[in-house]
Amino acid sequence: MDEATRVLKGTFGFDSFRPSQAELIGAVLAGRDVLGVMPTGAGKSLVYQVPALMSEGLAIVVSPLVSLMKDQVTALSELGVDAACINGSMTMDEQTAAFRLASSGGCRLLYVAPERLDTPRLARLAATADISLVAVDEAHCVSQWGQDFRPSYLGIATFISSLPKRPPVVALTATATSEVREDVARSLELVDPFVLVSGFDRPNLYLGVERPAPRDKDACLLRLVGERAAKVASPGGAASGRSGIVYCSTRRAVDDVCDLLCREGFAATSYHAGLTAERRRRDQDDFLYDRATVMVATNAFGMGIDKSDVGFVIHYNMPGDLESYYQEAGRAGRDGSPADCILIYNAKDVQTQQYFIDHSFDEAIADGRDESEAMALRSRDSERLRRMTFYATGTDCLRSQVLRYFGESDAPFRCEHCSNCSTDVEVVDATVETQKICSCVVRIGHMGRQVGRACVVDVLRGSTSERVMRSRFDELSTYGIMRDVPTRRVRYIVDALVDAGLLGVTDGQYPTVFLTQDGADWLRDRDSTFEVKVARRMPKQETSDARGSRGRSGSATPDLSASAAELYERLRSLRSEIAREQGVAPYMVFSNATLMDLVSKRPTTSDGLLDVYGLGEKKVQRFGDQVLETLREG
Ligand code: ADP
Ligand code: MG
Repeated sequence: MDEATRVLKGTFGFDSFRPSQAELIGAVLAGRDVLGVMPTGAGKSLVYQVPALMSEGLAIVVSPLVSLMKDQVTALSELGVDAACINGSMTMDEQTAAFRLASSGGCRLLYVAPERLDTPRLARLAATADISLVAVDEAHCVSQWGQDFRPSYLGIATFISSLPKRPPVVALTATATSEVREDVARSLELVDPFVLVSGFDRPNLYLGVERPAPRDKDACLLRLVGERAAKVASPGGAASGRSGIVYCSTRRAVDDVCDLLCREGFAATSYHAGLTAERRRRDQDDFLYDRATVMVATNAFGMGIDKSDVGFVIHYNMPGDLESYYQEAGRAGRDGSPADCILIYNAKDVQTQQYFIDHSFDEAIADGRDESEAMALRSRDSERLRRMTFYATGTDCLRSQVLRYFGESDAPFRCEHCSNCSTDVEVVDATVETQKICSCVVRIGHMGRQVGRACVVDVLRGSTSERVMRSRFDELSTYGIMRDVPTRRVRYIVDALVDAGLLGVTDGQYPTVFLTQDGADWLRDRDSTFEVKVARRMPKQETSDARGSRGRSGSATPDLSASAAELYERLRSLRSEIAREQGVAPYMVFSNATLMDLVSKRPTTSDGLLDVYGLGEKKVQRFGDQVLETLREG
């Protein structure tokens, strides 16, 4: 591992591995297959890049993101690492050059699109080259359970088994339900893999929910963006603000929101599947290269986008589940700087998402899918939508909800860094409601039925849905006894009871609710009480913006003195200048975190520069003098 740390420091300029990286790399170096499940921004790339640099051979990296391979290769070249890529969007000549480089031993990493794996040329290369490892990025794409399934990923296992000598296989993903995890290990034919699921918390992300009235939604968006990104015409222009992504659920909304932001003076651009490939590439580049500061997009944008200085992700529409939400929101703050993830909630989005679910059910049936399987999928997706809706409407700590959703049952109940934790809550008695809910769960159990939380809520609320009527739940004495309590509140108390351990939830794809021993004891004891927290008033506006010293202009430098902020801005212009000269994106030259560290350490020598976050030997060699000069002026 000492050698690995040297590579980390020398090439990437980082002092130490994050714990999960160290464990995974250790296993790879020991020759094992690994499956790493780490949230976006956790640093998955280094898990294969560092071992690749420590070996003489060639590492093959399979990644679904053809449009981004070139950026990844460029970013590595900026670090002095020889890498190349091969995908269908390259000309024959470009591909030939890449193959030649790879077979001559002139590169350490070869990024390959999955569709290219079964081409004769790659087969020839694979047969002769010394393959140090095969890395599979976004490995969940191999799972038919996930939303991002790519049939071409199924060919990866065949490719690996065709290699003369089987190298370690490194599978990495941020999406990690246990089904997907098992599916990945099986489909990639991993051999006794070392599996590591790292914590999902991203402490630098502020999580927030805004619930404006429908007609105030645009004003709310403009306020949120205006507090963070600078307008083109303001002092310093768009270059002085932070960049961010606004996600919408439809192409139409993307177009409208992008128009709105442009009209208001923001440098916004857009991305969705309805635009030509050329247009998408251009708009994406505008965003990556900081020519546009706000990207308005559908969920088609973002997978594999490594732009590390995204300062905010705002959801103009609510996604269908927390996996999607956290994956999209998690594109903010990859460089570890404070960043904001804000969801604008509107009840209409729940209907839109429900429509998507019903629509894909109808399609599945039309395609001749097995009906019970399609129904199972639909109820799974509806349950996920309910969890998402609860995140958007409830009062529990937002971070705690996300982490628990991902299975971190020991996550703290309050994070003090989300809009719910900064909302004043009051404790109210829910003893009677608890009695009703627990009795209802017991009675459903006595009927020999197993149902999920949503069904319990339906029964208590006296729903006449088909599911309730077919199961004859309307004959229960607890049917409809909470008719006068809003669904949201019943649901909230049910979840609080699960958190408190009075109710239990089974594992697996269709979790069902049961009364635990604690719950049974609670019911039996006449003196039992149960309290829940509810919001007292609207949340205080407390985002990473308000906490920093900056005002509404949205400067990128929280908590800096005026002189330090000035130095930061000068380093930033130097970065833009270098980026323009090199024809690369500014964040590939130095990350914001590197700029911040330069400002706080103010090194005066090359050795001092090597101590700065993100500065490795190559960067210091190339740009060190310019940086030192700028620092001397400051
Ligand atoms: P992921 O693929 O998991 O989303 P990346 O590999 O793109 O994450 O890394 C995210 C960011 O974290 C990058 O800016 C990277 O340079 C930084 N990073 C990764 N590992 C470390 C480390 N050990 N120390 C400091 N920064 C790191
Ligand atoms: Mg990645």
